[in-house]
Amino acid sequence: MKYKKNGENPFQPRGKIGIRWGIFAGFAIFTVVIIILLWVFQIALLESFYRSIKTQEIRSTGESITAQMQQENMNVFRMEEVITNAAQEKQMSILLSDERGRWTILKKSSPTSFLDRLSWVDLAQIYMETDSRGGKYLYSQNGNDGQPENMIYVSTFTEKGGDNRLLILDTSIVPVESTVDTLKIQLWYLTIVMILLGLGLAILIARRISAPIRQINESAKTLATGEYQIEFEDKGFREIAELGNTLRYAASELSKVEQLRRDLIANVSHDLRTPLTMIAGYSEVMRDIPGENTPENVQIIIDETHRLTTLVNDMLDLSKLQAQAIPLERSVFNLTESIREIMTRYDKMADFRFSFEANEEVYVNADELKISQVVYNLVNNAINYTGADKTIRVRQKVRDGVVRIEVIDSGEGIPADKLKDIWERYYKVDKSHKRAQVGSGLGLSIVKSILDLHGGMYGVQSEVGKGSVFWFELKQVSPDHNEKELPASSGRTS
Ligand code: ADP
Repeated sequence: MKYKKNGENPFQPRGKIGIRWGIFAGFAIFTVVIIILLWVFQIALLESFYRSIKTQEIRSTGESITAQMQQENMNVFRMEEVITNAAQEKQMSILLSDERGRWTILKKSSPTSFLDRLSWVDLAQIYMETDSRGGKYLYSQNGNDGQPENMIYVSTFTEKGGDNRLLILDTSIVPVESTVDTLKIQLWYLTIVMILLGLGLAILIARRISAPIRQINESAKTLATGEYQIEFEDKGFREIAELGNTLRYAASELSKVEQLRRDLIANVSHDLRTPLTMIAGYSEVMRDIPGENTPENVQIIIDETHRLTTLVNDMLDLSKLQAQAIPLERSVFNLTESIREIMTRYDKMADFRFSFEANEEVYVNADELKISQVVYNLVNNAINYTGADKTIRVRQKVRDGVVRIEVIDSGEGIPADKLKDIWERYYKVDKSHKRAQVGSGLGLSIVKSILDLHGGMYGVQSEVGKGSVFWFELKQVSPDHNEKELPASSGRTS
């Protein structure tokens, strides 16, 4: 799937709404629900709330007065006090009488109350009716002539002294219409404020969340086109910033792999072509020109083939090492023994003289195969560049728990200004040097990569005309050491 910047966007999922609209919709629903709830409770249910509160209030006041009247040592003064207090506190008109309506205490809190219009006959009748209904009842009475509706609580009881009493409570139910009207106006304002507030908040939050996501999304699309030098924002909330960081990391890893791929193709095409041209050229000459089929020419073809093999192997090794495709297989092994073995193989080369100086057996925790490769590469270089005495010395030194391996030759040495460059890929000090043509120019890069992976130090001391000392260092461990080592600080010194 190839993404074109200005074309159709193949990443866009169908039937999904954007994050901004999602947040908007959420806020809109929330605001509408809150507004509806406010209207329902404040306007539609206000009356029934008010009524039920009033009903509860009149009933509990009636019951509390009845209970107080039935206490011991109740006298007329105290009765009056109880009734006056209750009437004042609850804004009710209260009447207390005996069963025949002859004796009454009346406290009126509202001028419209009908209690003072009741005659003793009425009271006696109410007493009898209430008594026959079980001693207690509550009813509401619609007001006449624009009078408000009243709620009335009646109860009969017997005092401690044996007297029967009648208690009537009367409270007016104020119509809620005017209150509702006031509330409505208030609610309209509130509704407008809430809509504006909801809208504002939705825009703010949507922007804080969606803007960075959209930015990251755009960058990711650019990344998908193969452009790895792209910046990812790490603004906004934590998760979004983390996403930005993750993508930035992915982009940098991708660009490394891409660089590696480019290098490899460029190098392969350049470096393989030379030996291949030689092989093809010599073969054709041998085929076409009589007498050219000499052992020397065959040897050249064989040499070039070997060179080709070394080159391909080195390229693969280096690519793998640099892409860290093969992990280090660390183990504790006897480095001294390992080098000794390598040197015995070289001993068979009759032209050269080799020596290995070591006065103790040293163990390291490292990848044995790769460290051997380091030694091979350094010794091979020494062979290629050593001087007339054709001597190569390998020396092991131990100091402060660090083992140092030195590969010493007496060749032409390396000029000081080139010392840094020799570790680079394909670098050759003197390209016309006969021996240099044998190498791939990758040997020291491989050495460097391996030692970097191990966190070991390495370097070279060289003097033109006298020779070079290539060295590397690893941490010494005890033979029974089996815990993992922390990588030491790596670096090259020249
Ligand atoms: P090559 O395959 O060319 O040896 P290397 O990466 O091993 O590639 O080495 C890079 C360059 O460093 C060589 O081409 C050579 O010029 C220089 N060099 C390496 N080892 C020595 C040495 N022991 N003496 C002198 N020059 C050396």
